[in-house]
Amino acid sequence: MKSIKEQLIDQISGKCIHFNGISNKTCNEGIKYEDVRDESERPYRFPCLKRVEVGSCLLAKFPTKEEAEKEAIEIEALQNKTVNAVVLVKEHIQKTGKKVGSIQCPGCGGQLNYSTEQINGHVSATCSSCKMGWIE
Ligand SMILES: [Zn+2]
Repeated sequence: MKSIKEQLIDQISGKCIHFNGISNKTCNEGIKYEDVRDESERPYRFPCLKRVEVGSCLLAKFPTKEEAEKEAIEIEALQNKTVNAVVLVKEHIQKTGKKVGSIQCPGCGGQLNYSTEQINGHVSATCSSCKMGWIE
């Protein structure tokens, strides 16, 4: 079985670097998805996703193995930092009893604002300066 990191790398390298999700009308390069998709089958298939070699997009560009690896490492690092931050916030809540507040973000040193659901005690947080954040 492939490791989580290998799966991440597969995912990243199989997706055009301009792809931003088909809920958008155009990709980051300004190409209209409806102009390049293959409509011979449903669900439609897109040249932005490598595993289906269909349709045509002249600007489709896939990350190199090195780029995909680098991104996978960044995503993993962010996930690890987030797990760490969840623990820190919960400890802080236990210690202070504050259900809403902020701590110093372990990812960037910025302000990590959190709040607690009244109903179930779930904690959500977002950092004001980096991508750190989660919803429980
Ligand atoms: Zn941060």
